Amino acid sequence: MQQPALEAVDLRAGYGDAQILDGVSLRIDPGEIVALIGANGAGKTTLLRTVSGLVRARGGAVSLFGERIDGLAPHRVAEAGFVQSPEGKQLFLGMSIRENLMVGAHNRRAYARWRTTIEEVFQLFPILAERRDKAASTLSGGQQQMLAVGRALMARPRVLALDEPSLGLAPIMVDRLFEAIRAVRQLAIPILIIEQNVFQVLSMADRGYVLENGRVTLSGTGRDLIENEHLRATYLGL
Ligand code: ATP
Repeated sequence: MQQPALEAVDLRAGYGDAQILDGVSLRIDPGEIVALIGANGAGKTTLLRTVSGLVRARGGAVSLFGERIDGLAPHRVAEAGFVQSPEGKQLFLGMSIRENLMVGAHNRRAYARWRTTIEEVFQLFPILAERRDKAASTLSGGQQQMLAVGRALMARPRVLALDEPSLGLAPIMVDRLFEAIRAVRQLAIPILIIEQNVFQVLSMADRGYVLENGRVTLSGTGRDLIENEHLRATYLGL
């Protein structure tokens, strides 16, 4: 069996007295796109924040290509290669597109290779190359999401996590964004993606996990999940 790109085993975390993750296990294999589905408050963002080291794990283990990353400070986790594009794009709108991309290359490993990486990002998202010297505020919502994904790529992720990248986008832009995410797959970077557009994300994903009350209640291939009765009733309204 190949080594997982990312593996969480029995992960527990919370805030104060509130236990939010109640023993979550999941894995992402190299090259896979894995979707994380769940209602508001299920703990999806908390899971990403725990893997990122922003929330301290209270139990369990997280490994990136076989190396433990739980307990590391957030910048060490990013340096190890788990890079998260946060919910809400958190771009610097007054800065140029190029400057926003450079912000992503802040870790040592990434900075050493930024010239190569920025060319890869420009190839993936030509609109960013065309407008590189313009302020990020001049981009449409969909283009800003591409910039957010591009910035995350600048950190040279070994695993990329996207937290609701389609939030606030018009449907046509959601389609574009999903095209962009498919393009990232060409770079062979495994992706963990949280999405409310359940049908779209499961159509794209190799596999998915459903998180309910801090536990994984269902997992399978994207296709299996789309056909699952519980998932259809709860998340697709079918
Ligand atoms: P959403 O789709 O709304 O982002 P989610 O599945 O990502 O939902 P989380 O954001 O992980 O859910 O939140 C899980 C629970 O943890 C919620 O009940 C939330 O109120 C609580 N929570 C999140 N952040 C904090 C915090 N910093 N302090 C205390 N409680 C928090």
